[in-house]
Amino acid sequence: MSKLQPARGTRDIYGEDARRFQKVIDTFTAVGTSYGFESISTPIFEFTEVFKRPLGETSDVVSKEMYTFEDRGGEEVTLRPELTASICRSFISNGMMQNLPCRFMSWGPAFRYERPQKGRYRQFHQIDAELIGPAEPEADVDVIAMAYRILVTLGFADRVKLNLNTLGDSESREAYRQELVTYFTAYKDQLSEDSQRRLETNPLRILDSKDEADQKLVVDAPRFSDSLNEASVDFFNRVQAGLTAAGVPFDVNERLVRGLDYYCHTAFEFITESLGAQGTVLAGGRYDGLIAQLGGQPTAGIGWAGGIERLAMMLDETPHAPRPVVMVPMGEAATVKAISVAEKLRDAGFTVTSDRSGNMKKRMNRANKAHASFGIIIGDNELENHVAMVKNLDEGTQEEVAFDQIADFIKRANS
Ligand code: ATP
Ligand code: MG
Repeated sequence: MSKLQPARGTRDIYGEDARRFQKVIDTFTAVGTSYGFESISTPIFEFTEVFKRPLGETSDVVSKEMYTFEDRGGEEVTLRPELTASICRSFISNGMMQNLPCRFMSWGPAFRYERPQKGRYRQFHQIDAELIGPAEPEADVDVIAMAYRILVTLGFADRVKLNLNTLGDSESREAYRQELVTYFTAYKDQLSEDSQRRLETNPLRILDSKDEADQKLVVDAPRFSDSLNEASVDFFNRVQAGLTAAGVPFDVNERLVRGLDYYCHTAFEFITESLGAQGTVLAGGRYDGLIAQLGGQPTAGIGWAGGIERLAMMLDETPHAPRPVVMVPMGEAATVKAISVAEKLRDAGFTVTSDRSGNMKKRMNRANKAHASFGIIIGDNELENHVAMVKNLDEGTQEEVAFDQIADFIKRANS
C-alpha cells in the first residue's frame, strides 16, 4: 500500500463538503419538523432477513449490492442498503402499533456494493421520511409535499421534476402482471438474460431494465393504466388533486416502476438534469404490504429517501462557517481571563475561538485567514484596567472595551 486511501467507493467528508452536507440535513430536519415528523435512529446493520424479505431476492439491491457477512457469533448480518426496512423493523420490534400514525425522519449512511462513480458510492448517505399508519391518498400528498418543500428550500425549484405513477392495488398489479407475462413471453428469446429471469420472478421489473433490447420491447408493452381497477384509479386521482392543492407540480410517468418489491399505489421520483447520469435525487412510494411482510400487523405506510451526496452536489453555493471572534491573550494571567470572557461571549451567541501561540502578527494572520470578525486582545495592561483591546478585523480599527461590555460592543458594530 503506497498511500493510505479510504476503501473503494467511500470518502471522507470534511471542509466545504461537510458544510454542504450539513445544510441538507439541517433543511431536512427543519422542514420535517414543520410536518410533525420526529427523529428516529436505527442500527446501521440488521439481520439480513430484514432486507432480504421486503426488498425481494430478485431485486438488484439484494442480489448484487448488499454488504452481507457472518459475524463472529455466526449471525448473518447486512449493512443497511436503505433505511425504510430498518425503520419498519423498529416499528414492529418496539410495538409502535399503539401509537399510529408514526411520522419518522432519519438520516445516515447506507451501503451498496456498486460501481463507484460521481454521485454513486458504496457508502452513501440518505435523508429518509416515513409516515406509517394512514392509508388515505392525502397522506401520500403530505410526504411528497414535504420532500418538495425541502428541495425548494435548498434552491432547486427550477432544477427538479417530480415524476409520479401508480402501481395500483394488488388486484390491479396481478392483472397487469398477467398482461406483461403474455406480452413478453411472445418475445422471450429477444429479452436479456436478466429479463428472462424477471419474466418468471417479477415481470414488472423488465420495465425498469437498462438493457437496450429490453427497452425496445418495453416501448410497446401493455400500459399499467389499462389494468388499474376503479379503486386504484380513484386513489391516484386523489393523490393528483392533493398535489395540485399543495402547489406541487408533477408529471405522470407511466414507465416509472420502483426497483423494490414492496410498493403499491403511489410511486414517485424527483429527478434532475444537473447531475449527469445520476439523475434521481429523491424517490419513494407507498408500501402497504411491507410491515406485514416483515411479520408485523398489516399496516399502511408511505415514505421516501433522498441521497445526501447528490443533494449536496446540487447546492449553488457552499454555506459559510460562522465568522468567529478570536481571543488573543498575551501572557499566562490573560490566558485564564480570556477563558471566562470567551464563555461570556458564547453565552451571548457568538462563535468564539482562541489563539494562544505565537507572536501578535502570526495570530492576526491566522485570524484573518479564519475570516474572523473581531480579535479580542488581552495583555497585562488590559488586565490591570479590566478592558480588552477589541479589534474590528474588517475595518482595521481597535478600541478598549470593558470586559463585561464586549458582547454589546460587537453586537452594535455588527448591526
Ligand atoms: P439509482 O437508480 O441511482 O441506483 P436507486 O433507485 O437505487 O437509485 P433508491 O433505492 O431509491 O435509489 O435510493 C434513494 C436515493 O438514494 C436515490 O435517489 C439516490 O439519490 C440515493 N442513492 C442510491 N444509491 C446511491 C449510491 N450508491 N450512491 C449515492 N447515492 C445513492
Ligand atoms: Mg440503485
